[in-house]
Amino acid sequence: MIKIKKRKILLLPGDGIGPEVIFEVKKIIEWFNKNKSLDFEIEEALVGGASFEKYKSPITDEVFYKALESEAVILGAVGGPKWDGLEFSKRPERALLKLRKELKLFANLRPAICFKQLVDASSLKPEIISGLDIMIVRELTGGIYFGEPRGIVPIENGERKGTNTHTYTTNEIHRVARVAFELAKKRKNTVTSCEKSNVMEAGMLWREEVQALRDKEFKKVELKHMLADNCAMQLLREPKQFDVIVTDNLFGDILSDEAAMLTGSLGLLPSASLGAKDKNGKMRAMYEPIHGSAPDIAGKNISNPIASILSLSMALRYSLELDVEADLLDAAVQQVLDDGLRTKDIMSVGKKEVSTTVMGDAIIAKLK
Ligand code: NAD
Repeated sequence: MIKIKKRKILLLPGDGIGPEVIFEVKKIIEWFNKNKSLDFEIEEALVGGASFEKYKSPITDEVFYKALESEAVILGAVGGPKWDGLEFSKRPERALLKLRKELKLFANLRPAICFKQLVDASSLKPEIISGLDIMIVRELTGGIYFGEPRGIVPIENGERKGTNTHTYTTNEIHRVARVAFELAKKRKNTVTSCEKSNVMEAGMLWREEVQALRDKEFKKVELKHMLADNCAMQLLREPKQFDVIVTDNLFGDILSDEAAMLTGSLGLLPSASLGAKDKNGKMRAMYEPIHGSAPDIAGKNISNPIASILSLSMALRYSLELDVEADLLDAAVQQVLDDGLRTKDIMSVGKKEVSTTVMGDAIIAKLK
């Protein structure tokens, strides 16, 4: 068999259920290496609490440079009660923030998909949620979480004042909106841009600049503007009206969690964080399930690996330009769910409960 591609993938399992779910991802990458003329070079390293235990740091420089050199980073999850008391700079989450910031991952893609097999897991009526397929694009490195000035200062009368600053520049808005328009072209060709232009100048700028970019570069994509509070309501009222939603860091944080929860299945949803393309068209990117390290079920072989496996699928699609392999993997997940296999978190009457490893094996069997 002729090997045609050599790609570097860095796996960062992290803490809690992270190592269990990333182990299943590794099995699938190895399957692709063996059976699909692909040649992924897999590296694995510690992050989060696991890294702190060994190196007294949530991410070492060595691991950070490995991430810089990789075409895709796939992370499990970090954190857990054991490290909750650490000072801020040593906490497991610092690894994530450092990777996002230093790799300049400014666009966070969060699909909210309702799997037809799991329509009953949603708190919404089946007719409202069935077939849902939204992509939320959240700006990840700007806005109120990073703006200056910030801080807490004492003021007169013994009171204190807390300040955070919400700012965006034209370039910051254009680069994330461009990601949303490009995605829409491959989907239903519609972008909804959300802000609070009725009460915030930065929101007004957001609306004007997204519109200007659309008029200049993406004339064929339909663009709608919506106030972020209305979007929060519309997601519950009629979520299927949306295709791609693009929004800032703060509103995106809230709207993407709301959209994910509509589907009722935390263990199934992946995410991607993308950086800018370099002159060769390559970009830095990190892929991770949206769930955390689930310390309550860690080590029991009952966690759902599908969110991580679908994170690999996003990496194949967006970083490695392997759409055929990504489609194959997505279809394998669908078929396993069609067959009635369920991990404990998505178990329902009449279905077959399986472990983390059996779920991974079943998906590989479908790839075959
Ligand atoms: P969580 O997502 O870890 O767990 C919430 C609930 O969902 C738990 O009952 C858990 O058992 C369940 N769950 C989550 N993923 C599952 C899966 N794949 N299969 C089956 N069940 C699953 O959120 P939490 O409990 O709020 O946080 C736990 C730890 O994870 C904390 O330390 C938190 O800081 C960290 N966290 C990390 C990330 C990340 O690494 N990106 C994100 C969120 C939370």
